[in-house]
Amino acid sequence: MNKDSHRDLFSRNIDEESFPENKECKRSVKKNDVVDLDDNEFLLEEYESEEEGGIGSLNSKRKGNKFTVNSSSEEEEDEFEEEEEVKLKVYFCSRTHSQLSQFVKELRKTIFANEKNVVSLGSRKNFCINEEVLRLGNSTQINERCLELQKSKKKEISKMKVLDILSSSHPNSSETNNRRMCCWKKKMVFLTDDSVLHLLQNLGAEGKVRRTKASSGCPMLRKHKLQKQFRDEISHQGVLDIEDLVQLGRNIGTCPYYGSRSMITSADLVVLPYQSLLSKASREALGLNLKDSIVIIDEAHNLADSLISMYDAKITLSQLENVHSHIEKYFGRFRSLLGPGNRRYIQTLLVLTRAFLRVLLNDKDGNRLNTCPDAEKGVRENKTFDSSMAINDFLFSLNIDNINLIKLLQYIKESNIMHKVSGYGDKMTTMQKGSAVKENGESCDHGSILSGFQALANMLLSLTNNDGDGRIIISRKRPSSSGQGAYLKYVMLTGEKIFSEIVHEAHAVILAGGTLQPIEETRERLFPWLPSDHLHFFSCSHIVPPESILPLAVSHGPSGRSFDFSYGSRSSSTMMEELGLLLCNLATVIPEGIVVFFSSFEYEGQVYDAWKTSGILERILKKKHIFREPRKNTEIEVILKKYKEAIDNPAPKSGAILLAVVGGKISEGINFSDGMGRCIVMVGLPYPSPSDIELLERVKHIESLGDTSSTEIPKLSISEEEYYGGDVQSGFSILRSCRRRGKEYYENLCMKAVNQSIGRAIRHVNDYAAILLVDIRYASDSSKRSFSHPSSKLPQWIKESLVSATNNYGEVHKLLHQFFRFNKNRNCN
Ligand code: SF4
Repeated sequence: MNKDSHRDLFSRNIDEESFPENKECKRSVKKNDVVDLDDNEFLLEEYESEEEGGIGSLNSKRKGNKFTVNSSSEEEEDEFEEEEEVKLKVYFCSRTHSQLSQFVKELRKTIFANEKNVVSLGSRKNFCINEEVLRLGNSTQINERCLELQKSKKKEISKMKVLDILSSSHPNSSETNNRRMCCWKKKMVFLTDDSVLHLLQNLGAEGKVRRTKASSGCPMLRKHKLQKQFRDEISHQGVLDIEDLVQLGRNIGTCPYYGSRSMITSADLVVLPYQSLLSKASREALGLNLKDSIVIIDEAHNLADSLISMYDAKITLSQLENVHSHIEKYFGRFRSLLGPGNRRYIQTLLVLTRAFLRVLLNDKDGNRLNTCPDAEKGVRENKTFDSSMAINDFLFSLNIDNINLIKLLQYIKESNIMHKVSGYGDKMTTMQKGSAVKENGESCDHGSILSGFQALANMLLSLTNNDGDGRIIISRKRPSSSGQGAYLKYVMLTGEKIFSEIVHEAHAVILAGGTLQPIEETRERLFPWLPSDHLHFFSCSHIVPPESILPLAVSHGPSGRSFDFSYGSRSSSTMMEELGLLLCNLATVIPEGIVVFFSSFEYEGQVYDAWKTSGILERILKKKHIFREPRKNTEIEVILKKYKEAIDNPAPKSGAILLAVVGGKISEGINFSDGMGRCIVMVGLPYPSPSDIELLERVKHIESLGDTSSTEIPKLSISEEEYYGGDVQSGFSILRSCRRRGKEYYENLCMKAVNQSIGRAIRHVNDYAAILLVDIRYASDSSKRSFSHPSSKLPQWIKESLVSATNNYGEVHKLLHQFFRFNKNRNCN
């Protein structure tokens, strides 16, 4: 029997589903509106940590260098794992599921589709077909519930063992204060007389436990032969993507998540998302062995940032308040029933959450961090106020540096406190509101309490990282506000160690992408230690001929005004008007679809409103339909459908214009082939806002890379002041104080975003499109162009054809006219 099975004796599922008498009892309680809960349901088992010789050490488990407290992490049972034979495999990973689906679609066109065993992996959220679980909505809860179901299968055996002990008057059973203490393999289970009675009532005539709903696991996994059928079908059908696998699972009535996982061993090619491959915990959970394998990482242009962001942790003020108040209430109710171990750790949790709250609420009585005069000024001026600290400084300033976080995390993981406190809070809320309990026995608040707890656990976990690996961001709002939006966040800064594990294990790692340049920064951030002769760069030209692409730097508009969309001048009405006039003209010369990229939703909105007021919008609408990228991802499909329909059936107009945003969904995941994207217009240089403290932390870190001598460490104002007001000018001054790497990183972020956006067009060999880079900063005399000039960071195939200087808009118009006439004629022939 393991500790989990002890826990299960008190779990909500068993109590509610196994013992109908209990339900009756609770119903009567509800009727009278009296809070009279069965304490055992929420009572924690006694807990003693490792050093105290208790059970705490028994199940401690490390994943990589960390404890995994994320109960929703891919912590799996053994029965689905098989011994993996070492076989050469290719792992292909990309960022999104749609990118993986595209890859699978292309793979089907090759001979490898029939020759190789291919399996697609994904998250439970993508694969789950148990409607009841899927209804929970978010990944954490889906993982939690699925794992709970898997664990419940094991309960049966555990229950039988306990019942055997009880029913046979086990010699080690003893009575203490109306509770029975059953000692079994050093583990302690406290049972009330009622619980014993319930357990004994569930014994059948031969002393067997009646099978219950909770003990049967997920219905989609009950029949192992269906899992086999699932695997056989895949062998027949060949390469399948996630949607295909889900459909197959539904047709057969078996879980596609576990079905596809069970095929990893025999696969030659494993197709999977970033998270599953780049996170060590996920790799281990999935049983992925990278040894001697080939790892291909697609869309690797932002690999360093994507990798470190997986290790970020964040908790909001409202989550903290929620968790703190629930722990407090729980402790108030159960304090006298809990053993000393639980009491100590729960009190520690209260100390921590209180300290975090004080930081965010700027509590005068607490351990305030913002003793800096600038900070006071920032708060008085009602600005959002952000500061950043190293882990150790943060812990010291809060007076919580003496807390053993490793042991606390171990406690959170092993004690089941998250579920007990959440469950108790959930029950109380339900009873107080008198609201209906959902079919699955959980009220609406359960998820939010649990996810708040999860966020706290992840935050604590991040505080166990090395001091220099990341920073703590403290983002506060002015005291008079509700505190909405305030948060604590850990941002990981270094990906070198994380990535080295992959490089060392694999036989070869291939970073692939159409917009990988500039690659030097990725090298410095992820594998600076790799000898240069171990690194190979390969770049091939684009499949389309040069005459199918027309990249133009557009420096002047139709009225002759020069385009300058830098921060200081982009909001001027003349600039926005000139851009509108340009669009008006482009609509006459460019057929079908035009996609226009702006630097942000805010700026797109500003320009749209200005066009509306000035009447330019109406003029454009006479020629083409206009659609705008919605902020909500769920609405994108509809807009794209309408955009396509407007292009396919343009009359009486000549196509459509889609206003999109760099960094939005459209800029990264959508392909605009053929008529959908005959022209991409990039408005200005989309530099990220320097008011973002996380960005500045990365800039500072990257600036310091490779500097071994302390005399060479750059003097950046933010690191000296510790506090940051969150205004753009402070950000610019930090950027100006960078010498090379930090500044380059900032510029690269912008140009990578440009490259991603303009790469949405021209998707196959017969495709053709114009690319307009609208800003005087793109234009230049190529002979005088420096390395840091924006145009030097364009992909080679665009750079080679770039018309970087034109005398006036008339010239641009003429070139566009010739280009589209030529390609139209060519396609007709
Ligand atoms: S076993 Fe599969 S279908 Fe069942 S809950 Fe888990 S992921 Fe969903």
